[in-house]
Amino acid sequence: MPVERKHCQCQDTQFHFLTRAFESLQLEAAQRELLLSPFRETTVSIPLRPNRNDDSELQTFMGYRVQHNHARGPFKGGLRFHPSVNLGEIRALAQLMTWKTALVDIPFGGAKGGIAVDTTQLDRHALEILTKRFTQKMVPVFGVHEDIPAPDIGTNPQVMAWILEEYSKTHGYTPAIVTGKPIELGGSAGRLEATGYGVACITREVASEMSLPIKQARVVIQGFGNVGSHAALSLSRMGARIIALSDYRGGVYAESGIDVSAAVRHVAETEWLEGLPETEAISNAELLALPCDFLIPAALEATIDCDNADTIKAKAVIEAANIPVTHLADTALRDRGIAVVPDLLANAGGVLTSYYEWVQNLQEFPWDYETILQRLETRLLSVYEQVRDLASSRQVDLRTAAYELAIGRVARAIALRGF
Ligand code: NAD
Repeated sequence: MPVERKHCQCQDTQFHFLTRAFESLQLEAAQRELLLSPFRETTVSIPLRPNRNDDSELQTFMGYRVQHNHARGPFKGGLRFHPSVNLGEIRALAQLMTWKTALVDIPFGGAKGGIAVDTTQLDRHALEILTKRFTQKMVPVFGVHEDIPAPDIGTNPQVMAWILEEYSKTHGYTPAIVTGKPIELGGSAGRLEATGYGVACITREVASEMSLPIKQARVVIQGFGNVGSHAALSLSRMGARIIALSDYRGGVYAESGIDVSAAVRHVAETEWLEGLPETEAISNAELLALPCDFLIPAALEATIDCDNADTIKAKAVIEAANIPVTHLADTALRDRGIAVVPDLLANAGGVLTSYYEWVQNLQEFPWDYETILQRLETRLLSVYEQVRDLASSRQVDLRTAAYELAIGRVARAIALRGF
C-alpha cells in the first residue's frame, strides 16, 4: 500500500476514534479543539554524509518532535527512525501518547518524534552521528521534567544511549532524559520486554473472559521486532500456541505451533524469519486472514483496513502496534462481532515501564525485575478492568471507553491548571 495513503488513514483514524468519544462525553467544540491541538511541533534538518569514506553525497534528513499535551506531566513518547516518518504521522502518534499515559494514569503527557530515514542504508557510525545531531537540535525542547523520549520502530537502547550522551554534554550526566536505555546506563530491568509482556497479559485476560484457557489459544502475530517477539515469547511461556509470525519480508506458519525461542535465534543469525525450520512460508496478507483466536498486529499503522477487514477470521484483535486498525476496519470488525482491544490499552506496558524507569532514575535507586513486571501486570490488568466495566455500563466498545477515561482525565487537568 502506498505510504501516503497510510499517513492519511493514521490521522483520519485517530480523529474518528476521538470524535466518537467526544460525542459520548458531550464535549463542547472549544474543548475538543484544545484537546486536539498540539502544544508545540519542532522540525529540524540534519545534514549527513551517510558513508564514512567521505566521497558519498551529502544528504539532508528531516527530524520531528511533536509535543501534544502536558497537562498531566512532562511530554513522553517514542522516537521512530523509518523512511515513512512525516509530520502528520508523528502528530497522530503524539496525540495517542497523551491518551495512553492518561489512561494508565501516570504523570506524563504525550509526544512523539522521529527521523525520516532508512536505517538499513546507514552504518553504525552514521547512525550515531545522525542521532547525536538530531539530539543537539532537540536539546532545547527535551528535559527530564519537559520531554523524555523512548525507543519505537527503528530505534533501540543503543540509540537512547547516544541521546543520553549528547544531552549530558550540556546538562551533566542525566540518565532520566530517556527511557528504554541500556541497563548499564540506568535502564530498567524488564523495559525491553515490557510492551510485549503487557500485550501477553491482556491477551490472557481476554482469553479467560472468553472462557478459553490460554493453553488452548491459537495466536497469530504480525511483526517480530521488539513488541512482536516479546509478545510471542511471553504468550508461548504462558502456554499459548503461536501458529504464525511475520516480519517485513513475509511470514512463517506451523499449525502445530512455532518454537518462538528458535525463531528469535534464527532472526539473530539471519535477520529475517524467512526459512525458519519446521514452518511453511506465507505472505503477510495470508497471515492476517488465518483462522485463529487472537490476531496481534505488532508492526505498522493501518495494517487492517477496509480492504482486508473482511478477511480477518480471528475471534479478537489485540492492538500491539499503534493505530494498526483503521476506523473503517474497526467498525467492520465490530459489526462482525470481533473484539478489538485498543492500542492505548494493549501496548501501554511499554510506557508504564518507561515511567518506572524514570522514577528509578530520579530516585537513583533501581528496582528488581520481579517488582517491575509484577507492578506492570497489576496496573495494566486493573486498567483493563476499568475500561471493560465502563464499556459495559455505557454500552460502548472498549476503545471508546478507554478514550473516555483518558480524555476525561486530561480535560480535568487542563481545567484545574487553567490553560
Ligand atoms: P521494531 O522496529 O522493533 O519491529 C517492527 C517489526 O515489524 C519488524 O519485525 C519489522 O520487520 C516488521 N514490519 C515492518 N513493516 C512491516 C510490514 N509492512 N508488514 C509486516 N511486518 C512489518 O518496532 P517495535 O518497537 O516492535 O514496534 C512495533 C509497533 O509497536 C509500532 O507500532 C510501535 O509504535 C508500537 N509500540 C512499540 C512500543 C515499544 O516499546 N517498542 C511501545 C508501544 C507501541
